[in-house]
Amino acid sequence: MKTLKTLICVLTVIGLCGCHGTRQSDQDNTRAKYIFLFIGDGMGHSLVSLTESYMSYKAGKIGGEHLTFSDFPIFGNVSTYSADSPVTCSAAAGTAIASGQKTVNGKLGRSADGTPLRSFAFDLKNEGYKVGVISDAPINHATPAAFYSTPESRNHYYQIIQQIPHSRFDYFAASGFLEFIPADSGEPDCEKLLEDNGYEVVWGRDELDEVSPETEKIVLCNKENKGRNAKNYEADNCINPENFTLAEMVSTGIEFLTDEDPFIIICEGGLIDWSAHINKTMPTIASIIELDKAVKVAYEFYQKHPEETLIVVTSDHDTGGASVGYGDEWVNEQPKWAIMDSVWNAAGQTNKLNAEENEALNAQAHIGWTTAYHTGAEVPVYAIGAGAKRFCGRMDNTDFKGKILGE
Ligand SMILES: [Zn+2]
Repeated sequence: MKTLKTLICVLTVIGLCGCHGTRQSDQDNTRAKYIFLFIGDGMGHSLVSLTESYMSYKAGKIGGEHLTFSDFPIFGNVSTYSADSPVTCSAAAGTAIASGQKTVNGKLGRSADGTPLRSFAFDLKNEGYKVGVISDAPINHATPAAFYSTPESRNHYYQIIQQIPHSRFDYFAASGFLEFIPADSGEPDCEKLLEDNGYEVVWGRDELDEVSPETEKIVLCNKENKGRNAKNYEADNCINPENFTLAEMVSTGIEFLTDEDPFIIICEGGLIDWSAHINKTMPTIASIIELDKAVKVAYEFYQKHPEETLIVVTSDHDTGGASVGYGDEWVNEQPKWAIMDSVWNAAGQTNKLNAEENEALNAQAHIGWTTAYHTGAEVPVYAIGAGAKRFCGRMDNTDFKGKILGE
């Protein structure tokens, strides 16, 4: 008996060592030279599924069409709760992703007691990486701002812009600014503030064409927002062809940042969240497809530098609690994409329906939405490239910092 116990004990120890040894050898601390982090704001599992269901419909299939990022080889699941709620806000979620620490809803870049936290983008900057921050929402909105600022509140938009020069980050691209003209009339507008501190602010494609090759720091904005506040939570879904697409912002960023130095590009698809908040199905899907086109630009870069590039695509939380199919009879709850698609196309690929009309359309097309806010559902993470394996399986949003840095 004693011998058997000893044998079990020895085997247990060997077993533990074996497991530990395997984990050690599998552990990949590679820090990619080129890092892309895409955050589909509000892009929970169900919104990715809705998008792929619609894409399959357009291809004449029941299912099977995939986005570029959902075909990445590494897949994981991320919990998103904040320090004070199962349902996070974007500020607390962005803070958790950037700093590796949970905070309460409403805090941006700071802990619950107000202590400023450190975004991993600063670790990379200090180690010689160039840093790019991109969003199709305003640059001082919570998600992009979580990576470069620690304001007293997520709504202190001017204070967020004041922190851009302190970041020394190299490339910013977004729709424009909130609080372009500060509430305190003694202060310069956002453009002057940045230009006085070494950043060139560029409005639209024409101005971008004229940027000198010597320019070291740049903030790219849509021409329509020159000299004024950008829209905030107004997803009217009118596509202005003069606006930069996310794909353009990423390709311009790659061009601007690439030299001998490594770089990180953090890119938010913010309009996904805005459309999902008002439960507009097709604008949400269109915004996810726009994010995917931007991921594709990064993927093409990865194909040229496969050993040195990491691409991670995730979300900060789910918005809308949507479902593929809705109804009270199982035989009749499948999505009616033809209805949704015809309304979308008849209106020139916009959805200007009021809330009541939009709800009726969703019901008719059997697309379910359960809330106009966020949900506490877990979100997906997809990854490819150097260090991608670290994102496999279950993780928390506070794990991104260590996994991206390879710590
Ligand atoms: Zn968000």
